[in-house]
Amino acid sequence: MKVDYIIVGSGLAGISFCEQLRAHDKSFIVFDDQSQQSSVVAGGLYNPVILKRFTPVWKSKEQLQIALQMYRNLEQEFHVILDYKIPVLRKFTSHEEQNNWFAASDKPHLSEYLSTKLIKNTNVCIEAPFGFGEVLQTGRIDVKNLIDTYKMYLLQNKIFFKEEFNFKALQIHLDILEYNDIQAQYIVFSEGYGVHENPFFKELPLIPTKGELLTIHAPELNIDYVLKGPVFLIPLGQDLYLVGATYNWDETTNDITIKGKVELLTKLRTIITCPFDVVNHVAGIRPTVKDRRPLVGQHNVHKNMFVLNGLGTRGVMIGPYVAQQLYNFIEFGLPLEHEIDIKRFQ
Ligand SMILES: Cc1cc2nc3c(=O)[nH]c(=O)nc-3n(C[C@H](O)[C@H](O)[C@H](O)COP(=O)(O)OP(=O)(O)OC[C@H]3O[C@@H](n4cnc5c(N)ncnc54)[C@H](O)[C@@H]3O)c2cc1C
Repeated sequence: MKVDYIIVGSGLAGISFCEQLRAHDKSFIVFDDQSQQSSVVAGGLYNPVILKRFTPVWKSKEQLQIALQMYRNLEQEFHVILDYKIPVLRKFTSHEEQNNWFAASDKPHLSEYLSTKLIKNTNVCIEAPFGFGEVLQTGRIDVKNLIDTYKMYLLQNKIFFKEEFNFKALQIHLDILEYNDIQAQYIVFSEGYGVHENPFFKELPLIPTKGELLTIHAPELNIDYVLKGPVFLIPLGQDLYLVGATYNWDETTNDITIKGKVELLTKLRTIITCPFDVVNHVAGIRPTVKDRRPLVGQHNVHKNMFVLNGLGTRGVMIGPYVAQQLYNFIEFGLPLEHEIDIKRFQ
């Protein structure tokens, strides 16, 4: 079999790159062993503002434009709903925070994202005496549905191998790569935290950041917006809500923990007062980087080998953006932005 590309990993990074390949009529095959599940468990929120400091996300406008177009295209092609437009309300904890919000909403890159209206809380289940500020242009991508749908498409087209990529079987020549009976021009590794076992890119400074999320059933809560307090509360419909997430730098397994659950429930109880049941609990490892920029680029020896990783806490928005950058770099020789290029660490 001859293809243009081999892709290793079909999380948000891998799928975003595959979408570039499909858009340009390139042939490819995908390997995924399901060892990582950051994308599968992700809350799926996209939000152009860092809500701790009220600052804009890096390249928020460009990221949103490219990402939302990609999800729209997928919705149309696969007849699924992926993008749920939903406002994010940031709970204020003091008058000082309200003032900081309104000061930030005046700034050039934030005015389009931060509403200047103070929203009062009218929900008896929610503790929010200082009210909320609304973030605009936000939403939730149903990432699990995206991944399931995409895998189905890949399987139907016989271009998906549900198996671990065997690095020892890869033969690297100057102009071609051989892997068992497959010949490819290029290979792109998008393995999330799995990259730590990749002999070609394992030196990259990727930091595993474990995250846990709960799903609760809360029939009296009745909110139709994402509530951001000490945790996010994300409505899924049918009185179900995602509660998350934790940040843990000491663990690298996908196992759920009592500690994670207790942390989330403790924080949740500072926001809502109504009864609820926990109906699900998941965990995954975010591929994060100290400078909070992705890891994108070319192997320094093998010029037909590339990496697309480090999507961190915001894979929904940044994945499609960096996938386009990588594609343009490989196929059109356009330089990568220095901030995302792995060369910054060499
Ligand atoms: C709890 C939690 C909540 C989150 N919430 C949000 C959110 O609301 N919004 C947001 O934007 N982001 C969120 N994120 C972050 C987001 O999920 C990540 O940025 C994104 O999933 C990273 O995608 P990825 O494709 O790089 O990695 P992964 O999703 O980890 O995908 C890598 C894939 O590669 C495969 N793989 C690895 N090694 C091999 C191998 N050797 N052979 C074959 N296959 C291999 C894995 O099985 C996996 O499928 C959250 C993350 C977590 C953990």
